[in-house]
Amino acid sequence: MSAGLHRFFVPRGLLGGPRVALTGEQAHQISRVLRLKIGDRVVLLDGAGHEYRVRLDDVRSSAVTGDVDDVRASRPEPRLQVTLYQALVLRDRFETVMQKGTEVGVSRFVPVWCERSAVPRGDQIDAKRLERWRRIVTEAAEQCERGRVPEILPPVRFTEALEQAAGGPALLALERETERSLQAGLRAALDQRLTDNDGKSTASLGLLVGPEGGFSSTEVAAAREAGVITVSLGPRILRTETAGPVLAALALYEAGDMVPFVQHPAAGAAPDRT
Ligand code: SAM
Repeated sequence: MSAGLHRFFVPRGLLGGPRVALTGEQAHQISRVLRLKIGDRVVLLDGAGHEYRVRLDDVRSSAVTGDVDDVRASRPEPRLQVTLYQALVLRDRFETVMQKGTEVGVSRFVPVWCERSAVPRGDQIDAKRLERWRRIVTEAAEQCERGRVPEILPPVRFTEALEQAAGGPALLALERETERSLQAGLRAALDQRLTDNDGKSTASLGLLVGPEGGFSSTEVAAAREAGVITVSLGPRILRTETAGPVLAALALYEAGDMVPFVQHPAAGAAPDRT
């Protein structure tokens, strides 16, 4: 239905009727950057699990309009809701973590200021930087055909991240871990998975990844004390921006999320918008 078409997350209020009108940045992008024409199609996502294919019938930089000619359920989000508590690292490297983490299926990013973080205090991450990060994960979600955009929470200190993560199953990636393999750690954490009311197992999993300098011994002791499982990612020392997405991908693989997607032929009905 929509392989290869340009995809855009749009406010849900614009969708649900037979016609759609886009203005502002998206109208500019479609008309001036992508230079799409009348008759071309785009896919608009409501971010709540449905996507609308639209045939354009007017394309101007001020406004783009079209008719909805198909509605589908978006590709399924992972049942395992991964929250990646990623130590703050220098600017573009942190952006790499969010872009790659979005592609592999992370549901939520929490930037963490650790004792050995090389960046200024987390509280200097202003609204402008958060907005840029949200744009990066939105574009990554559009590119990898996800139906939802991962959340980015404001930066927190390690102690606060630990408090949030320890509320459910959580792993801390520790390069000097000598006992627990990732697989053993994941099995222990995923065994705590919950079964939701339709019998499908859903689960949340917190993943903590340290800064260039690694977690301090105090941070590791506090994590273990809080019941967080420390795991090794093997004998090689990964850069922090490698460790986050890799750990998330391996967790999703172990949870059985990395399976082929089969789009059912029947278009999904447009969601009830009351
Ligand atoms: N300063 C540490 C050292 O030299 O041993 C390296 C820290 S590493 C660059 C950044 C983060 O990635 C670590 O805090 C850890 O969370 C994760 N990491 C990297 N390699 C890992 C491995 N082999 N096992 C577990 N975690 C790893």
